[in-house]
Amino acid sequence: MSRSAHPAGPRHADVFSEGHYSAPPADLNDLDPKVWSHTVRRTEDGVVTVGGLEVTALAEEFGTPAYFVDEADFRERARAWRTAFGHDADVFYAGKAFLSRAVVRWLHEEGLNLDVCSGGELATALSAGMPADRIAFHGNNKSTAEIHAAVEAGVGRIVLDSFQEIVRVAHIAQSLGRRQRVQIRVTVGVEAHTHEFIATAHEDQKFGIALADGQAAEAVRRALTLDGLELVGIHSHIGSQIFDMAGFEVAARRVVGLLAAVRDEHGVELPEIDLGGGLGIAYTSDDDPREPHEIAKALGEIVTRECEAARLSTPRISVEPGRAIVGPTAFTLYEVGTIKPLEGLRTYVSVDGGMSDNIRTALYDAEYSVALVSRTSDAEPMLARVVGKHCESGDIVVKDAFLPADLAPGDLIAVPATGAYCRSMASNYNHAPRPPVVAVKDGAARVIVRRETEDDLLRLDVG
Ligand SMILES: *Cc1c(COP(=O)(O)O)cnc(C)c1O
Repeated sequence: MSRSAHPAGPRHADVFSEGHYSAPPADLNDLDPKVWSHTVRRTEDGVVTVGGLEVTALAEEFGTPAYFVDEADFRERARAWRTAFGHDADVFYAGKAFLSRAVVRWLHEEGLNLDVCSGGELATALSAGMPADRIAFHGNNKSTAEIHAAVEAGVGRIVLDSFQEIVRVAHIAQSLGRRQRVQIRVTVGVEAHTHEFIATAHEDQKFGIALADGQAAEAVRRALTLDGLELVGIHSHIGSQIFDMAGFEVAARRVVGLLAAVRDEHGVELPEIDLGGGLGIAYTSDDDPREPHEIAKALGEIVTRECEAARLSTPRISVEPGRAIVGPTAFTLYEVGTIKPLEGLRTYVSVDGGMSDNIRTALYDAEYSVALVSRTSDAEPMLARVVGKHCESGDIVVKDAFLPADLAPGDLIAVPATGAYCRSMASNYNHAPRPPVVAVKDGAARVIVRRETEDDLLRLDVG
């Protein structure tokens, strides 16, 4: 067929009405600065550059698929969070979004703290020189060995997630002759995802201890009696990819309510509250994320107001953005392989990666953007679905996108905003070696996580 998968065609009415995407942009060659990292440009000759380096040269040197992280942009965003929250608050980068030793050093240099939630993340942080007192340890099922390692290293806080863990951490700290600073993670009955949040009385999920029916107050009671623990605050994390501050408002009000109840019962004012992460980023041009200074201002005002109402002195606030810092700073570069036009539906564009390097589309129905980056094109927009090379029909990278109709095997396309939860969730499905992460800055590129090789895979296979 001709490459007629154009939305103007009458046979697309049904597909179009699903509403997963907007109309094609006026010019497919445009790169929306909202979804691309700060130093991404398209040069005169049509090739896209990042940090001053052409993607064609990067593909040649590092291969595809590969993640390219814009180091200047990462540092800028980290600094913007740090500056927005100032000296009376702490910013903990959520390491699970993407962690490597280079990233730990950038965070350290930019004055951020770090959240980890496994022994592996802790080891990475410590090995790259993050001071232990700037590390917070999270997780709903920390092992005894992990707790031991965290206490022994001297992490700044352990976020307690269950009644059993309160006792476990206290015992381990005591056995090491330590008094461990801890927060208690509560579930405030608010769940927020993207543009909506829901407030429920009951929390049906694995994290935290419910505020409802006095569970959290009981946890505080127990933690305060144990010698191995220094209870410093309450923690709440309400969801992910959130744009609406209303969920944080409800969470802050409820957490402050607990602080007031603790003061009334024990005569103790806990000095810290952590409001978690979850701030949204732009994956497509339809998303409008808030700037860190707006978020800092909104959260600061909410907490101050609630504390004044409860006649509490304002606690030290911390936040834990992961995605909002690293997400927008990287893109995944793929080479186009097989192109399969399905008459009246859409054109399937296969790339040399897929769900092994980006599971979010399959896992969460996430939306992404995509662009042809190795050249410009004046061809008509074609409705495309970017799919991987794995043995799954759900192996979709970008569900609905417009790409130029003259797209051909060998072209390079890039998916922006893949800095968070892509490499960190990557798998070896189909024995795919995981792609490298390459940091680009000021005309220089260096590998910060190298590409896996078939030898790496075989090394684990000791049968
Ligand atoms: C995942 C997580 C975060 C970070 O979430 P983002 O959506 O990446 O900002 C922060 N805090 C906790 C406790 C988390 O589990």
